[in-house]
Amino acid sequence: MARKTRGKIGYILQAINIIPLLVFGFLIMLMGGHWFTDAMYAQVEGELRGMAGSVNTMMDALYPGDYILKGETAYRLYKGDQDITQNYELIDRLKSETGLDITLFYQDTRILTTISDGSGRRIVGTGAPDEIIQNVLTGGESRFYDNAEIYGTSYFSYYTPLRNSDGSITGILFVGRPSAKVEAAIQRSVFPLIATDLILIVIVAAITFIYNKGFAACLLQIHGFLREVSSGNMNAKLSSQTLRRNDELGEIAQSALHMQHSLRSLVDQDTLTSLANRRSGSVRLRKVIEDSAANSTPFCVAIGDIDFFKRVNDTYGHDCGDQVLRAVSEKIRQHVRGRGFAARWGGEEFLLVFEADLPTSVSYLTDLLQDIRSMQISYDDQTVKVTMTFGVTFGDTDDIKELIRSADEKMYGGKSNGRNIVVC
Ligand code: GH3
Ligand code: MG
Ligand code: MG
Repeated sequence: MARKTRGKIGYILQAINIIPLLVFGFLIMLMGGHWFTDAMYAQVEGELRGMAGSVNTMMDALYPGDYILKGETAYRLYKGDQDITQNYELIDRLKSETGLDITLFYQDTRILTTISDGSGRRIVGTGAPDEIIQNVLTGGESRFYDNAEIYGTSYFSYYTPLRNSDGSITGILFVGRPSAKVEAAIQRSVFPLIATDLILIVIVAAITFIYNKGFAACLLQIHGFLREVSSGNMNAKLSSQTLRRNDELGEIAQSALHMQHSLRSLVDQDTLTSLANRRSGSVRLRKVIEDSAANSTPFCVAIGDIDFFKRVNDTYGHDCGDQVLRAVSEKIRQHVRGRGFAARWGGEEFLLVFEADLPTSVSYLTDLLQDIRSMQISYDDQTVKVTMTFGVTFGDTDDIKELIRSADEKMYGGKSNGRNIVVC
């Protein structure tokens, strides 16, 4: 008895396909998001670095010379000959064109800036954070920060030393963009990326799920079919949907169906003559009896036996006997076609059932016997001829045994009366 699997393979298929798909899909989504964010950070850093270079270049072009602090009490910052204290024109214009904030520190003090405090005043005169003083002003390094807090606002910041013509560090140049704006830009770009990824994952997962479901259902159906066939049900069916599949599973289903047909033939057919065997002959006779009762149609049952068949075997050999059996069977098949059916009932004995009344059946059998008499069966350059004796009885009972007994009795009567005859 086949063990029931309850579709375990369906769950396994779904698990091994969909779980990795979801895991990899989400990993790609996360990594893609990170990668994109990193790329954006690098882009902003490049932009800030570029702008710092441009500010330096423009300052040098507009006001050639070094940064110098002049004055006794109220200090003024000069660039060459030009007093640039409160000269916001250049940095304000750059801010309006690029959206970037710019601050120029003399030493660690903000002299020029586009950044204002909460009340709208520029935060000039304020100092740089200690870390910047240490790394940029003292250490001479340029630094990028993706989250530097300046007066309550977070900035993507780039700090670079401001140098005089002799290379000495005289201050710091800051270029920054509010983090919120960069984050918003990242989100605007990353969101479609994540959304596309999610949609793709869902579509692929749905297609995989549906395909797997169909695959497992088909497999289970074939399994159920084979279980039925192996337990003897030769009428088990496979759905046309399964049989129509144009993949290997469809081919397996076709093969299973062919196997069922072959088994049915093996079970129901006589291998030598290809007529129905005794078992399936009985089943078919039972069906004729039922149909006759239901439709009030007549039928007759006949038993035919080859005369002196033993002699055929004895004279020409067993193989020749087989050849005669095949030839006689073929003749019988031709005569019952469309009229009823025939089965090989025993060695050289046949059951013939006609869905007709007794006189018609007798005339069918008489024609058949005439044909058999005139047959010349060739075997090894020899010609064999046989006759048969038939007993036929009208189907007036639903008792199969009684019908067969009656036909048999008549057939034996024919044997006693010289054979080669139809007895009714
Ligand atoms: P009768 O006219 O009285 O029927 O005589 P008979 O010789 O036909 O009857 P009998 O019962 O004496 O012999 C039947 C023979 O049929 C015996 C058996 O060897 C032979 N036979 C049965 N089945 C087969 C078969 O499949 N192949 C061959 N070659 N011979 C078979
Ligand atoms: Mg015989
Ligand atoms: Mg016999």
